[in-house]
Amino acid sequence: MNDFTAENNDFESIVGKAPEVNEDSPKNLTRAGVIGAGTMGQGIAQLLASSGIDVILVDKNEETLKKSMSELTESMDREIARWAMTASEKRAVLSRIRPTTDFDDLDGMKLIIEAVPEVLELKQELFQHLDGLCDGEAILVSNTSTLSLSEIASVTEHPENVIGLHFMNPVTRTKIVEVIRGLRTSEETFKYAKGLAERINKVVVDVYEYPGYVTTRVIIPMLNEAMYVLMEKVASAEGIDTAMKLGFNLNFGPLEFADMMGLDEVMKWMETLFHELGDLKYRPCPLLRKMVRANHHGKKTGEGFYRYDENGRKIGQSHMI
Ligand code: NAD
Repeated sequence: MNDFTAENNDFESIVGKAPEVNEDSPKNLTRAGVIGAGTMGQGIAQLLASSGIDVILVDKNEETLKKSMSELTESMDREIARWAMTASEKRAVLSRIRPTTDFDDLDGMKLIIEAVPEVLELKQELFQHLDGLCDGEAILVSNTSTLSLSEIASVTEHPENVIGLHFMNPVTRTKIVEVIRGLRTSEETFKYAKGLAERINKVVVDVYEYPGYVTTRVIIPMLNEAMYVLMEKVASAEGIDTAMKLGFNLNFGPLEFADMMGLDEVMKWMETLFHELGDLKYRPCPLLRKMVRANHHGKKTGEGFYRYDENGRKIGQSHMI
């Protein structure tokens, strides 16, 4: 009979050697890194953790990490309140996310997903660093909405390991993810990314590298147009959002949606589309520039087209419009 006493705890001699976990398949992935604990990083960390994956959540800023973990806790409390999650699921998710400012904690990861701001040079610098840190062993994923994966990957020694997974906001509730291959992404990396998407229950839309892919390219000009409509005083922000939401059966009106995404990010996406495609239809609305310059970035700063309380609840229209 097996003897599991403290004196005889030679587990391997009793049950045999534990099989090595082969993380070459996303089905077996046990841990992953997420970089950037903002709007998207927070959601991606929650999504992975709720699929049983331990997450090292890295941000350059200690305060952001604290804020992010408390926002995550509050958003899961809201889920519990509407019976969409249990308290033990919440505890499991939180126990699987470890926030840190130390990039070295990512050493040995098979998968790292970045969600830092939409600035090419920033992402390139990060990917170069990660490529060195992981010695070409990790799959490096960008959540970029508009930038070229090939350009991001071009600074690494292993562009074959770089791929785009464009999650949508809110990450845990949106059903799709766009999978974007750079020009040198390998078939193996592509299959891995698709397998991961399957594991975390996302429907994959396979997209060729092109500015804004499908989702950003189609939705962002609509949000920008709503800003022009507001600027030209055709209707109030509430009026525009109500018309679009109820008129087209949308979950969010375009202005509140822009506030949720972050007006700074929306402006960067418009600028990339305008720069890359050269068409005037992608020119950022002057009202958007004005809001961003005033540091009114939407929900995350407490004011955008609407004002928000500390729990992110809408409390009225912006005084600027
Ligand atoms: P955000 O501004 O909310 O968060 C970015 C985070 O990155 C911040 O917490 C910041 O402190 C951190 N950061 C900045 N530089 C860093 C560095 N060098 N190392 C570690 N952390 C760093 O931005 P976001 O809205 O989450 O967007 C992130 C990415 O996701 C962008 O590429 C964006 O295009 C993409 N995206 C955003 C949305 C959206 O709706 N906001 C949707 C899809 C994709």
